[in-house]
Amino acid sequence: ISKSDFVLKEIPKIGFDDIGGLNDVKEDIRKAMIYPFTHKELYQHYGQKAGEGILLYGPPGCGKTLMAKAAAKECDAEFINVKTSNIVSKWVGSSEKNIKQIFETARKSKKAIIFFDEIDSIAGKRSDSKDYSKRMVNELLAQMDGVEQIDSDILVLAATNEPWNIDPALRRPGRFSKLLFIPEPDHDARLAIFNIYLESRPIDPHLCLDELAANTEGYSGADISSICKEAADIPLNEALKGGLIRNIELRDFTTVILRRSPSIKSW
Ligand code: ATP
Repeated sequence: ISKSDFVLKEIPKIGFDDIGGLNDVKEDIRKAMIYPFTHKELYQHYGQKAGEGILLYGPPGCGKTLMAKAAAKECDAEFINVKTSNIVSKWVGSSEKNIKQIFETARKSKKAIIFFDEIDSIAGKRSDSKDYSKRMVNELLAQMDGVEQIDSDILVLAATNEPWNIDPALRRPGRFSKLLFIPEPDHDARLAIFNIYLESRPIDPHLCLDELAANTEGYSGADISSICKEAADIPLNEALKGGLIRNIELRDFTTVILRRSPSIKSW
């Protein structure tokens, strides 16, 4: 089994500008992960430092992974994306070794952000009783305590849809003590997300993005990204069949929105 099955290392291209809305979260991340480096002396002056882990939580498809990735780009760090559930399924027995390996990989980079997606798959209440889960959580905690003391050039982020199910040991000071909520996008955030995904596409100049935002309550950022792709597909397919090359119009969006229900109901 190759390492790439559960960990992906990359230098991200997307930054905070590629994320619609979530301005408060961006600022909180800057304070926890970016300003401690750019305003080192000020932080030292007040006895504050980076290194505290951040737990991102919220409904699916609203930008947790995106935010972690963009945070890495914003602080010029390598992004180590750990698919936590893959370690569990494939490494029963020696899973804790892999946690150690992930931190070793991070130490080799000048600066790195380690992101544990679906952290509840090892540190959730339901997985608590399993022996390998316990060993993995213990190793993760040991590594995180180590990060705080040794190198603050490694920052750790994790994401979950079920924050209430997380092992409380993970929430103690110096570990994932900071909890950030990534909510479903409100009207302004939806507008910003439409803007991002339509920026480089030919849209009808009369198209009112405000109206699209108003008609997509309950749709996640991932939904909106798909809506834009599917709406663009309509005139594209017409043109492929020999039709006129036209802009993407309101009716294309209406067609797509009507056939797709919002993915955020009651979260
Ligand atoms: P899950 O809980 O399912 O892992 P998540 O919260 O991590 O979901 P992401 O993977 O960050 O969700 O988002 C999925 C996709 O949706 C992103 O790759 C992006 O295309 C789009 N997206 C989600 N939120 C936003 C946003 N605020 N701005 C721009 N794009 C977004």
